[in-house]
Amino acid sequence: MPRALVTGAAGFIGSHLCEYLLGRGVSVVGMDNLITGDVSNIEHLAGRDFVFVKHDVTNYIHLEGPLDYLLHFASPASPIDYLRVPIQTLKVGSLGTHNSLGLAKAKKARFLIASTSEVYGDPLVHPQREDYWGNVNPVGPRGVYDEAKRFAEAMTMAYHRVHGVETRIVRIFNTYGPRMRVEDGRAIPAFLSQALRSEDVTVFGDGTQTRSLCFISDLVEGIYRLLTSDVRDPVNIGNPREMTIQELAERIIALTGSKSRVVHKPLPVDDPKVRQPDITRARTLLGWEPKVPLDEGLSVTLAYFRKTLGI
Ligand code: UDP
Repeated sequence: MPRALVTGAAGFIGSHLCEYLLGRGVSVVGMDNLITGDVSNIEHLAGRDFVFVKHDVTNYIHLEGPLDYLLHFASPASPIDYLRVPIQTLKVGSLGTHNSLGLAKAKKARFLIASTSEVYGDPLVHPQREDYWGNVNPVGPRGVYDEAKRFAEAMTMAYHRVHGVETRIVRIFNTYGPRMRVEDGRAIPAFLSQALRSEDVTVFGDGTQTRSLCFISDLVEGIYRLLTSDVRDPVNIGNPREMTIQELAERIIALTGSKSRVVHKPLPVDDPKVRQPDITRARTLLGWEPKVPLDEGLSVTLAYFRKTLGI
């Protein structure tokens, strides 16, 4: 039975990934320091072949026994989180990646890094293909996340080239689903909780900026396919269906049947104007493409938010 370590296991994506791996017959060790993750996301995994270890991977990682896969998902990932904890964000992307790679090397485990569409910054090429190098402001407020992830990709490739570690790089585009935190500040949790509470729905800027939204079950399927493939180059995983943030806000208001109205707030610094993955590489090399339509994914997420908020 293969054994995997997932860092960031108590987070939104990490917890779904642990569950998916268990379903594939993988024994899982989940690690998290719980600064943005929550044990309630993984409590239901007790009794399965799952162990949770509370640990901050910016410090040396000690793990007994063999290891086949190391999936490094620990990081604050919402703009308001990485603005709140900018130094931890830089440390987990740099020191955390270094420690994880060191462990993968020692155990001869295959390493997969959770990278991001933020490596493309405010992109000048649209849609974004993996061979685009990006347009990132290193000294802006988002730089802590973008540069940490760019460093993590560089470090991953260096461990592959120098030490022969088997490495995979997934560039994750906007993803949503159950277990996103109500107060996480990203567009979907913000709009859903505002609509359910009949509060104003806060669209930043004029709302013409675009995003392309992928449901969590599609994402983890893509990640697993990449992990078990022989593709060492970065691969975008995301849903190419692009929409404006204004359109998203209106969709969510309609879906919830809310009386909320849209209000406009200032656009955050360096907020990307457009974002859409080119998934040709995932399609051709992994045979993967997203399946869940937006309305279906939003309904499942809405049910989770209703339950969490008790509305
Ligand atoms: N956004 C918004 N209102 C909110 C939260 C986010 O209009 O309450 C906008 C944000 O400015 C961005 C888009 O929605 O243009 C997606 O933001 P999110 O924080 O979800 O992630 P990002 O893609 O920027 O990392």
